[in-house]
Amino acid sequence: MTQDTLQKFIFENAAVRGELVDISATWREVQARHSYPAPVKRLLGEMVAAAALLSANLKFNGSIIMQIHGDGPVRLLVVECDSDLKLRATAKLNDEAIADDATLTTLLNQHGKGRFIITLDPAEKVPGQQPYQGIVPLDGEDVATVIEHYMLRSEQLDTRLWLAADDNVSRGLLLQKLPLHGGKAEAAPITHEEALETWNRAVVLGTTLKRDELLETTIDVLMKRLFWEETIRVFDPVHPAFHCTCTREKVGNMLKMLGQEEVEAALEEQGRLGINCDFCGKHYDYDAVDCAQLFASDAPAEALLHASDTKQ
Ligand SMILES: [Zn+2]
Repeated sequence: MTQDTLQKFIFENAAVRGELVDISATWREVQARHSYPAPVKRLLGEMVAAAALLSANLKFNGSIIMQIHGDGPVRLLVVECDSDLKLRATAKLNDEAIADDATLTTLLNQHGKGRFIITLDPAEKVPGQQPYQGIVPLDGEDVATVIEHYMLRSEQLDTRLWLAADDNVSRGLLLQKLPLHGGKAEAAPITHEEALETWNRAVVLGTTLKRDELLETTIDVLMKRLFWEETIRVFDPVHPAFHCTCTREKVGNMLKMLGQEEVEAALEEQGRLGINCDFCGKHYDYDAVDCAQLFASDAPAEALLHASDTKQ
């Protein structure tokens, strides 16, 4: 079986960078414990490719969490990918029928209340540091357009994306116009006109790429087919893989956030709490003693803190 692969490249005069990504095994792993309707699968698969493409350029050790919150039959699509391209993804659906020809708009933005959210979460935060979060309306008819608008408005980066996913594969192409100043000390100086020309030519080549072609063609073939006339520097490939970051501690924190009353009511009803991770399906089991410990563990520390406060 071939590895999932992300290939970065740069146009010779360093005006444009590109990436092609080919995700099969990881994408099948994401779908393994769910049976999503085809239009949901397509959107989530496109987000998986997009998250990998954006994560490959992260300038810190951490993760990108990309979410679309919907106001229609789909409540949430979420993909999390770290700078090593370890990723996980899931969808939450309402109990509504989904037509085969459903679109991003009919699934997630029926009343214009859909939201696209990108969170940049560094692995090592300084005390008090919050993850960076950008929230924008769902401005676009497909995942690629929504992200392109976000990148231009929030990051001031000209970015073009071509994404496609079916049951077996999630593939994508990213092109990004690089700012001329900074970060290109070793490259020969080029003018704004030359840079713009390279960018426009790259985008025209990308635009020839149709969805079916993207689904049916491996990325090394795509690279040659699209850019054979260009002088391109290709970097060592990197490999996206499925990885879930769930832990018993995180599930415990989620139960704490629900609150003691809610948890005790659920225990009363069911005897014990069984929680399955939405991303990987792993099962976590909490009985009455486990739950009591969750809510007891904070109490002594808090009491101590207050006791020492009053002494001073
Ligand atoms: Zn998990």
